[in-house]
Amino acid sequence: MIHDILIVGGGPAGLAFARALDGTGLSIGLVERQPADLLASPPVDGREIALTHRSVATLTRLGAWAHLGPEDISPLREAQVLNGASRFTLAFNTAGTGEDRLGQLVPNHRIRQALFRAIDGQPGLDLITGTGVASVGTDRAGARVRLADGRVLDARLLVAADSRFSAVREQLGIAAEVNRLGRSMMVCRVAHEGDHRSIATEWFDHGQTIAMLPLNGRQSSAVLTLSSGQIEQLAALNPGALGAEITRRYDARLGEMQVVEGPHVYPLATTYARHFAATRAALIGDAAVGMHPVTAHGFNLGLQGATTLAGLVADAAARGGDIASSLLLRRFEATHRLESRPIYAATNLLVGLYTDERPAARIARRATLRAGARLPMVRQTISRFLMQH
Ligand SMILES: Cc1cc2nc3c(=O)[nH]c(=O)nc-3n(C[C@H](O)[C@H](O)[C@H](O)COP(=O)(O)OP(=O)(O)OC[C@H]3O[C@@H](n4cnc5c(N)ncnc54)[C@H](O)[C@@H]3O)c2cc1C
Repeated sequence: MIHDILIVGGGPAGLAFARALDGTGLSIGLVERQPADLLASPPVDGREIALTHRSVATLTRLGAWAHLGPEDISPLREAQVLNGASRFTLAFNTAGTGEDRLGQLVPNHRIRQALFRAIDGQPGLDLITGTGVASVGTDRAGARVRLADGRVLDARLLVAADSRFSAVREQLGIAAEVNRLGRSMMVCRVAHEGDHRSIATEWFDHGQTIAMLPLNGRQSSAVLTLSSGQIEQLAALNPGALGAEITRRYDARLGEMQVVEGPHVYPLATTYARHFAATRAALIGDAAVGMHPVTAHGFNLGLQGATTLAGLVADAAARGGDIASSLLLRRFEATHRLESRPIYAATNLLVGLYTDERPAARIARRATLRAGARLPMVRQTISRFLMQH
């Protein structure tokens, strides 16, 4: 069977890309190994996605935002980065921007569900679910995809949106920088007595990193980063013991905490593909750039990449041109690199600066933070990304 475009992966990036092509008249096949009922009602995965104003505008344009209810959306007014016991705080706020918030927090499974609802019945879109892609190949004539159930599909353009450990990326021969950090993140939703005032905190304490993301009501999403072994032990605790442990680790800043959902564990790895395109193929979402979650930009960037590529493809289709020409794909790669490289580098620099546990580094960190020697660049890059429209 021949499509104009085949998308591998029905995660948020793949779904957003498919949706952004609505109205182009192109035939699209979207292959997702999970069954359709799981795409329609994705299980809770614990991730709370901090969406920038720009991402909210994009999701609105794509018709997905309307599928979210007020209970799904928590305002994020400010973010504070804390270092150990130091009173020095690096704050990201809206001062001087005219905005009342940095962005909105929305659970990942609700974003996936909203995007899936938005593509429901989209003309020209063919959902192929419950079977994965086993192998891919492309040449100047087109792309060929073999599914795990033996079916073979052809297309003019292949788009990989199959996660940061993208098998399609590998089969296309695109190398990637992969940093397995040997640490894991544990995410769970907690209820507490204290008022978070819609302020997120990222606390780089000695030996642990703990973030609290403010949710509606007196609830937060607790994100704890430790060695993978320590996280496995914590995740095995019963909810009462886990709540007490998170309260202790967060220094009871918001009072006593009870676990109301989770935990969910994610091994930490960052990835950056050397190229975002190959012959008749492109990478979007985490397959292109797998960000460290600390600055909460993975999906924001994924959405940007998806709409950039969709815009170029839609223009080419409207002109009757080649939707996978090497010029178009090079333009996509250049644009997305410009959008992603500074924030990827600034995030890794921030993590390196705060988590280096060598004694000399700990002393240097205090001095560096106070002097603001490298921080203004990091801070500006992250702020600029956060506040862009
Ligand atoms: C704890 C945590 C917190 C985060 N917080 C934020 C945040 O605040 N803000 C933010 O912007 N981002 C955040 N992120 C990042 C964000 O979740 C990811 O960037 C986003 O989910 C990536 O979407 P994706 O569609 O590229 O990939 P994925 O969500 O990984 O989806 C990939 C899809 O491809 C499918 N697939 C894989 N292989 C195949 C195959 N061979 N055949 C068919 N289908 C296949 C999978 O089943 C899956 O459905 C966070 C991540 C984590 C782990």
